[in-house]
Amino acid sequence: VFVCFEGGEGSGKSTQSRRLRESLEAEGFDVVLTFEPGDTPVGKEMRRIVLSPETGALSDRTEVLLYAADKAEHVDTVVQPALDRGAVVVTDRYVDSTLAYQGAGRTLPVSEVESVARWATRDLRPHLTVVLDLQPEQGLARFEERDRIEGESLEFHVRVREAFLAMAAADPDHYLVLDARAAVDDIAAAVLDRVRPLLGQ
Ligand code: C5P
Repeated sequence: VFVCFEGGEGSGKSTQSRRLRESLEAEGFDVVLTFEPGDTPVGKEMRRIVLSPETGALSDRTEVLLYAADKAEHVDTVVQPALDRGAVVVTDRYVDSTLAYQGAGRTLPVSEVESVARWATRDLRPHLTVVLDLQPEQGLARFEERDRIEGESLEFHVRVREAFLAMAAADPDHYLVLDARAAVDDIAAAVLDRVRPLLGQ
């Protein structure tokens, strides 16, 4: 079972993905918690190139390809092997982040970005994507590493948010949208409720 958390900056994805892992591990499940970009040795380099201020502004298409390379490495060496052995894989960001940030955010044609990202990931799709929804103003205020994202305008983050919501609205069977302002425990409980049937519970 493959579960993904998506959302803007400061929406609580890392907290909630950890909570889900803890709950499932306590019930005896084999859980692999991972993230994009950067949870492989090669991906770590990609993340450094894409996100370090020293790199400066990359061409939009270079950025797409670097994120795609991170995804290819991530799926081939972490996600798919874990799924193959029957683990529950929980990832903090996946393909939808690329569609939202590089597609909607950078305003590249989303269908083109999607082709690249689907190819990179062998079209492996999560059984469930949880979107932690938050107004960008609130998310950015909660975000600790402000320096890293100050380069992007508020409009950029508004487009990112709208993209996540549109993807979720188009495919409700595979998405759960939760208000990220809710209490951490309540969000964790709602996620678990939705994940249980996927585990045959
Ligand atoms: O989730 P995390 O905070 O590790 O993401 C790091 C940064 O990478 C975020 O600030 C996000 O804006 C950016 N990002 C991106 N495009 C992606 C994934 C992440 O611009 N596809």
